[in-house]
Amino acid sequence: MTSEIMDCTIIGGGPAGLYAAFYAGMRDLSARIVEDQAQLGGKLHFYPEKLIWDIGGVVPSTGYDVMNQMIEQGQTFNPEVNVNERIVKIEKLEPHLFECTSATGNKYLSKTVIVATGGGIVYPKRLPIEGIEHFEQTNLHYTIYRLDDFIDKKVAIVGGGNSAIDWANELKDKVKELHLIHRKGQFKAHEAQINELLESDIHIHTHSTVEELMPDSHDESIKAIKLKNEQTGRMETLPIDDLIVNIGFEAHDNFHQNSPLNFELIDNYYIKGTSEAQTSIEGIYAIGDIVDFNGKVRLIAGAYSDAVNAINQIRQHCYPLIQDSIVLSTFHEGLKQRRKG
Ligand SMILES: Cc1cc2nc3c(=O)[nH]c(=O)nc-3n(C[C@H](O)[C@H](O)[C@H](O)COP(=O)(O)OP(=O)(O)OC[C@H]3O[C@@H](n4cnc5c(N)ncnc54)[C@H](O)[C@@H]3O)c2cc1C
Repeated sequence: MTSEIMDCTIIGGGPAGLYAAFYAGMRDLSARIVEDQAQLGGKLHFYPEKLIWDIGGVVPSTGYDVMNQMIEQGQTFNPEVNVNERIVKIEKLEPHLFECTSATGNKYLSKTVIVATGGGIVYPKRLPIEGIEHFEQTNLHYTIYRLDDFIDKKVAIVGGGNSAIDWANELKDKVKELHLIHRKGQFKAHEAQINELLESDIHIHTHSTVEELMPDSHDESIKAIKLKNEQTGRMETLPIDDLIVNIGFEAHDNFHQNSPLNFELIDNYYIKGTSEAQTSIEGIYAIGDIVDFNGKVRLIAGAYSDAVNAINQIRQHCYPLIQDSIVLSTFHEGLKQRRKG
């Protein structure tokens, strides 16, 4: 499939990409988002239950709530949204025409491109157990969206880092029974978190690995797990209602690192940019966590300001004959009409 030519293609539907899509609408630019995952929201999917305190004007809100509001705001001006599409290549066909190609072979044409790929494409690591993906639709989780989903349940968490221990501490007073399983003898987390864990009645299984997931005969869920103590060789069966796995993440290759366009990089990963979101390639802009420049702020607030700068530059790039002026949402005609409607 080859698409219609938009003013900008935004690669990545996290906070930076979503805000860029919103701001493109504010500046009357046509935009599309292309996102690798099935859902928009970016890294906020990794911490949906955590409270975010540091976005100006937003009272402490969970990652999940902030993410949903970002997704809604990002679609205010109806950008074209393409999910499950991983961009693998960008080509410059003409000075003002770029083609972004996805892993499925789709081609997205636009006058400019915004790279908003953040930490890249990251997947939670799976336990090395054959067929484990069958349980991902039922009671095997890689993140916690709502702590209350586990009230009065028997839960096992696999992992020994900050997130696993943080979740264990947050869940311990809600669940019926909680097991923390770690293949090593020591936890790698903040001391205060570890102390809280050790003082609780969480069942801690160190030097232990999950050897088998025992399926329920009625549905596609796990009814018990088989644990092996690697020091003693002892096997144990734990009946559970939910299994939460938090053993790190795996990253996919990033197209910008070996692009024939030769992006200038910093530390062989970050795209070298400017505070106006320009990269070493005219017409390609980089925003959010993927970009680096003097004074870059790797926070949601920083992603927003990068997005505004990129869109303002794109407006000038695409429509140089129209005098540039600051746009305030309070005076935006389209938004006023929307309010009336
Ligand atoms: C645990 C944790 C807690 C945090 N807490 C806070 C906080 O309290 N306050 C705060 O301000 N910030 C916080 N942050 C940081 C914040 O989440 C990031 O700064 C922000 O998500 C960056 O947004 P982004 O859009 O640049 O990147 P991301 O959120 O990483 O989004 C990038 C998107 O691009 C997609 N993508 C990547 N490559 C491709 C490709 N080739 N094709 C298509 N799509 C692609 C990815 O799938 C992803 O959806 C936290 C981060 C973490 C990990």
